[in-house]
Amino acid sequence: MKRKTKLIHGGISGDPHTGAVNVPIYQVSTYKQEEAGVHKGFEYSRTGNPTRHALEELIKDLEGGEAGFAFGSGMAAITAVVMLLDSGDHVIMTDDVYGGTFRVMSKVLNRFGIESTFVDTSNLDNITASMKPNTKMLYLETPTNPLLKITDIEAAVLEAKQHGLLTVVDNTFSTPYWQTPLVQGADIVLHSATKYIGGHSDVVAGLVVVNSNKLAEDLHFIQNSTGGVLGPQDSWLLMRGIKTLGIRMEEHESNTKRIVEFLTGISAIGNVFYPGLESHPNHEIAKKQSRGFGGMVSFDVGSREKADKLLSRLKYFTLAESLGAVESLISVPARMTHASIPAERRAELGITDGLVRISVGLEDAEDLIEDLAQGLR
Ligand SMILES: *Cc1c(COP(=O)(O)O)cnc(C)c1O
Repeated sequence: MKRKTKLIHGGISGDPHTGAVNVPIYQVSTYKQEEAGVHKGFEYSRTGNPTRHALEELIKDLEGGEAGFAFGSGMAAITAVVMLLDSGDHVIMTDDVYGGTFRVMSKVLNRFGIESTFVDTSNLDNITASMKPNTKMLYLETPTNPLLKITDIEAAVLEAKQHGLLTVVDNTFSTPYWQTPLVQGADIVLHSATKYIGGHSDVVAGLVVVNSNKLAEDLHFIQNSTGGVLGPQDSWLLMRGIKTLGIRMEEHESNTKRIVEFLTGISAIGNVFYPGLESHPNHEIAKKQSRGFGGMVSFDVGSREKADKLLSRLKYFTLAESLGAVESLISVPARMTHASIPAERRAELGITDGLVRISVGLEDAEDLIEDLAQGLR
């Protein structure tokens, strides 16, 4: 099955009882048992729900893994995955991970004895240099947010395997349509499905796929024990979003390429960060491991004041957190998504006050470019 076909026919299709072409929303918490302990595979909806199960089968197929899991948010998914570790274990993480990931590691999970080191994983030497005797997990985000740095997944996995680590990849920006990290050797791939997978700014959700039965068993135990599951309505919305993921990702990217071309032609703009640019330091790796460069671009307008001026003038770019939806969004990472990262740390990472990030939507590219042109003028 080719990728666009799998988006429609992967997982579980329809409903055998009625012939309905879509999986119904099983708005139910519990299931009748024939005898004590004898049931049709579902006993209680925290443990398993047929609509959520259909979504979990679909994301498993799309990422090419052993089992899928749906959570109530990307952060719930990330937390559950880190809970595979024990107190006293150490994680090496990409330095400009999503702000919430940095926060949960440095303010919550650290209190339970899970230690983390944040390094620029786009340089593999930094991974090797951060290894400790208690290191158990390598956690990558690629491309990163908001600087669109790329880590070579295959090379990082080789390094992790030599030290017996699990490799986790946050694949939110690429989605399985552009990038399938399990195929490159990663053990676990996860998503904030709130973004491209949902795609319509109407659901908050997280998805995980693992590559072995052992990890599947362990993660199901954690999901059922801690209970951060996704409800049936939201599971259904994600399945609906996934049907159009392919055409959306293609269109996001073609709009983005035109916008990047426009932005790089303006001399007053500083750096433009987009992995599809040949001048991007990790362009070759991006080309090797992904089928597309995505719909996210960041650029530096020089100062907080200039960023504010641009924001106040735009008509089609909504000032909002989040990304990956049909409507174009704009944000200032230093004061929004990355505000939970301390100022000195932001400066180290290069997340300047004049850095703006856009998530290019599915509007007509000409309208978007015209809007940016008048805003930047
Ligand atoms: C949004 C986001 C998250 C967190 O997901 P939520 O659904 O908001 O909990 C994690 N990683 C990345 C890359 C994100 O963009």
